[in-house]
Amino acid sequence: MAIATLTIDLSAVTENWRNLNAMAGGKAAAVVKADAYGLGMPQVVKALTRAGARTFFVAVAEEGAALRKFLGKGPQINVFSGHMERDTALIRDAELTPMLNSIDQMLRHVEALPGHPFGLQLDTGMNRLGMEDAEWTALREVALEQRPTLIMSHLACADAPDHAMNARQLQVFNEMTQDVGVPRSLAATGGTLLGPDYHFDMVRPGIGLYGGLPYIDARPVVSLYAPVIQIRDVAVGETVGYSNTWVARGPSRIATIAAGYADGIIRAMGPNARLHTGSSSVPVVGRISMDLIGVDVTGVAEEPEHLEVIGPHQSVDTVADFADTIGYEILTSLGARYKRVYL
Ligand SMILES: *Cc1c(COP(=O)(O)O)cnc(C)c1O
Repeated sequence: MAIATLTIDLSAVTENWRNLNAMAGGKAAAVVKADAYGLGMPQVVKALTRAGARTFFVAVAEEGAALRKFLGKGPQINVFSGHMERDTALIRDAELTPMLNSIDQMLRHVEALPGHPFGLQLDTGMNRLGMEDAEWTALREVALEQRPTLIMSHLACADAPDHAMNARQLQVFNEMTQDVGVPRSLAATGGTLLGPDYHFDMVRPGIGLYGGLPYIDARPVVSLYAPVIQIRDVAVGETVGYSNTWVARGPSRIATIAAGYADGIIRAMGPNARLHTGSSSVPVVGRISMDLIGVDVTGVAEEPEHLEVIGPHQSVDTVADFADTIGYEILTSLGARYKRVYL
């Protein structure tokens, strides 16, 4: 079999959720947008529901409608992008709660679905989604009369605990939501780790559930092993891969593994990427191809049958570093053709 095996440890996901939930005094929702960060929304949601999660967040209404099919009636599904044009039927039929982010969305929502639950999103400095201060001031009274289920905002720098932006956004959020009498939420994973001041009535962890930074104490969730298809000897001066970017400086053993950029092994990792066999770290050589990667296994005692891409010796975030990116991007880039095993 020439496909790599992606193992997703659902017991680690639920343990991470339980720990973050306990840290936040039992107020944790679960963010499962983008197919639960690439790990499989149906499986992840089933496990989280068993662990006690009752509130979920997705990015768009279409994800929410798909999620409702798995969850059935009951659990709350919140939609970060709010109520967009042509979302109305999905929001109504799948009983989604849009997090409205502008006066336009507010008008659209109350006109199309009067009495249907909604939340509100405020911008506290990130300038991405949510009502700004002036808009909020104008709308506040009318909006609160409609009894939103939640008022939320999002932190821009929560992965850097010492960043001054955190306290600034906290202060703005407190000022904007003083005496609203509505449940509030500010923190994602990073904000949850910043402490109780940031927890309000609900925290919204995503990456922490899936074992990524900034939740340093998370239990790892993902491992990825790619089979070795072929091993060959390469003489001094021979090259490996497209465009001859790697030249053997000495006699070398090169393993070709069955994984590539089509599987989310980002091509830009190229010269920095390493894999593991047992405890030996082995470098990627040459360009990462669509389906194949060359790895220098010179000096490795036993011919490996497969190599570790993500696992006990290198975390999702280590692999992210190879491409100068973040664990979030590695997870959500994981390809569709892996053999997926759920533990
Ligand atoms: C994605 C997202 C989250 C979850 O963030 P993590 O850093 O993955 O915990 C929470 N809130 C909002 C608004 C988001 O977009």
